[in-house]
Formats: sequence, structure tokens, C-alpha cells
Amino acid sequence: MSVAEQLTQVRRDVEELSNRTGQDVVLVAVSKTKPDEDVMAAYEAGQRDFGENRVQELVGKAQRLPKDIRWHMIGHVQTNKIKDFLPWVHLVHGVDRMKVLEVLERECAKLSRNVDILLQVHIAEESTKFGWDASEIADLARPEVWEEFPHVRPVGMMGMATFTDDEQQVRREFALLAALFKTHGKAFDQLARSRGASWEALSMGMSGDWAWALEEGSSMVRIGSAIFGDRNLPL
Ligand SMILES: *Cc1c(COP(=O)(O)O)cnc(C)c1O
Repeated sequence: MSVAEQLTQVRRDVEELSNRTGQDVVLVAVSKTKPDEDVMAAYEAGQRDFGENRVQELVGKAQRLPKDIRWHMIGHVQTNKIKDFLPWVHLVHGVDRMKVLEVLERECAKLSRNVDILLQVHIAEESTKFGWDASEIADLARPEVWEEFPHVRPVGMMGMATFTDDEQQVRREFALLAALFKTHGKAFDQLARSRGASWEALSMGMSGDWAWALEEGSSMVRIGSAIFGDRNLPL
């Protein structure tokens, strides 16, 4: 199947399930390692949200491709690269430590712009996955914290489940994230609204587990291989 056909299929499946759960869902097409032609095929089929995990690749595509594409930085954030992607990014998914907030703030101030971010939460069993834990999120829900970062707007959370086919485990991890998202939703929403945004994005679910994620409350799925096929070697 072509990229356009696979995208259409995925979009239909996501819509069908999100209608059932009653949750509006944003589909982020993860185009990492894929050539411009594949992005354009999805674009022509109506897709506007794309996810990349490497800064150079995101910036290159953003410079070459249509300006109404919303680029999502979904990879681990290296603070020395923030100034490079900031001018091009719509949403930064992987904000997982204070240093990232500090550098985002500094670079946003230089550009006189705000940036929307997701707090990455560590939900997986593997110790290799990045993110805050539940008690750190509770700390971050205090509005005082954000006085230091006036240009940064927390609009939601992001998480990755353990890479396993154990459905119960994956669901449990997603449910944990959804509960955290809700528990602190009021505090974060107040903060986001004071900055002209809202607390609305729960980014969880990839090609292999998006349906479980949606059923556990996701409002944003990041889908790559189910749309674009197996990944090429990194560019
Ligand atoms: C690559 C990637 C995805 C997409 O993965 P697929 O399994 O191809 O859908 C989603 N989220 C993150 C953070 C990724 O790095």
C-alpha cells in the first residue's frame, strides 16, 4: 500500500476508536528517517502534524516543506540543540528535566516567542526511558515553579510504555499516565490558560499500542511505521 493509503487507513481506524471513546485525537505522523516525498504524500492526503526525533532532520524538512506543517519534536531533547529547532517547532514532547525548561526559556526570550511543551513522564519498566516520576510531576504542578519560565506553556504530558506485547502491562502504564494527567489537570490548566493555552494533550500510543493508549485516554498518538512502513536507516 502507498503512504497515502496507509495514512487513510490509520486515520480511519483512529477516528473510529476515538468516536467510541468520545475523545478528540490528534494524529502525529512520525516521519523520522523518511524522505521528503513520503512526507509530501501524507501532506497531500491532508496530514499536517508530523513528528521527528532528530534536530537536523526536523529543521531540514521544515525548511524545505510547506510552512503550514506542524512539526513535533518527539525525541530526547539535547539542550545544545534547542536553539536550532525552536524556530521551527510546534510542540516539544520530550521535556524531561529542569535544564530543558531553563534553556527553552532562555532561547524563547531571545526570540520573543512562547513554546508549547509536554512533560515526559517515565511510565515504562525499562530504566532507559526518560521522564519525570509522579512525585516530580506533583512538584511541577505548583505554579511558582513556572514563574521562572514565563515563555514556556505546559499543555500536556507524553509517555512511552514498555516495549512488550503484554497488553495488561502496557495498559497499566498508560492508565497511570492518564491518571497523572487528570490529577494535576486543574493546576496545569490554570497555568496554561494564564498563558493563552490549555492543558489538553495526552501524547501516548505508537504503531504497536495506539489502540490501547486511546482506550486508556490518549488524545494524541504518534504513529510512524504503520503509516510510512519500516524505518529506513537514519539519514
Ligand atoms: C519513532 C517514535 C514513534 C513512532 O514509532 P512507530 O512504532 O513507528 O509508530 C513514536 N514516538 C516516539 C517518541 C518515537 O521515537
